[in-house]
Amino acid sequence: MHLVSALLEETRALRFRATQKNTLAIFNWHQVTPAFDPARHHPHTWTALANFETAIDDVAESHSIMPLDAALAALDGGFLRGRCAALTFDDGDRSIADYVAPLLLRRGLPATFFINSAYLRGDRTYWFPVLAYAGHLLPAAIKQHGKALRQTGDTAFYARYREALEQYAAAVPNLADRFVTANWLSRLDGEQFAIGAHGHEHQRYAMMSEHWQRRDIAANVMALRDFRAFRPVFAPPFGKPIDVSPDLFRIAGEARLKIVLASGGINTRSAQSYDRIPADNVIIKRALTRAMAANGRRAAAAAL
Ligand SMILES: [Zn+2]
Repeated sequence: MHLVSALLEETRALRFRATQKNTLAIFNWHQVTPAFDPARHHPHTWTALANFETAIDDVAESHSIMPLDAALAALDGGFLRGRCAALTFDDGDRSIADYVAPLLLRRGLPATFFINSAYLRGDRTYWFPVLAYAGHLLPAAIKQHGKALRQTGDTAFYARYREALEQYAAAVPNLADRFVTANWLSRLDGEQFAIGAHGHEHQRYAMMSEHWQRRDIAANVMALRDFRAFRPVFAPPFGKPIDVSPDLFRIAGEARLKIVLASGGINTRSAQSYDRIPADNVIIKRALTRAMAANGRRAAAAAL
């Protein structure tokens, strides 16, 4: 980063720290294992276990780590105190059962796992894993168009190519054991380890009809609510501003689900949705500075 922008970021972060005493930083990871396996892990969503442990140390050193639902209730009720953090993991990757939960159990730290219910039986997946792990088997045109799915604003294009890619779901290696099982989820206690909603399917909700969104959230909640660890928090798949639409806020509100995004800020007050800090493969102190600076930038923009 350029020196001037790095200094500006530090200044904004310092100002945030000086003016905001009660804050909630929600961190978000996906896959955590000792070694990278290109058949199972994506460079953007994978963190080495050793680096993850360092990240946890860094968060714990400067924050009280709380269960997400308790932290959101405190924020909403105006009784959150001090620097608080919550740990979250999306997509139900089996590494959360193999490595993350055992580590957090040893450390006595709480976490929330956001789960897509459509993939729990291990016989389906969505377009992103097809592109990432079965790309070499795809026809060139489908692969080429598929790469635009993450950013497109064209709903017809999205529908056409996500369906084309999902025809190849069976070609994704280890499909039967990529995800945690319902049996594993059923053993979570809801106190230290909670389950949240991540969509029945992992689609960009902003690219889907309102009817589809309503049905998908209902199916997700229906599948997850019988687990005693389920808490009414929804992390929309992908979770960036381009992935959600006003429909979603209304539908989630009607279903009494709180929303957390992956938009890279720190929470200071009750809001329609909450920010999370993408934490895959990052240096936590650096990500925190950036998130604090992002809040400072937004506050400055709002004051104009
Ligand atoms: Zn996800």
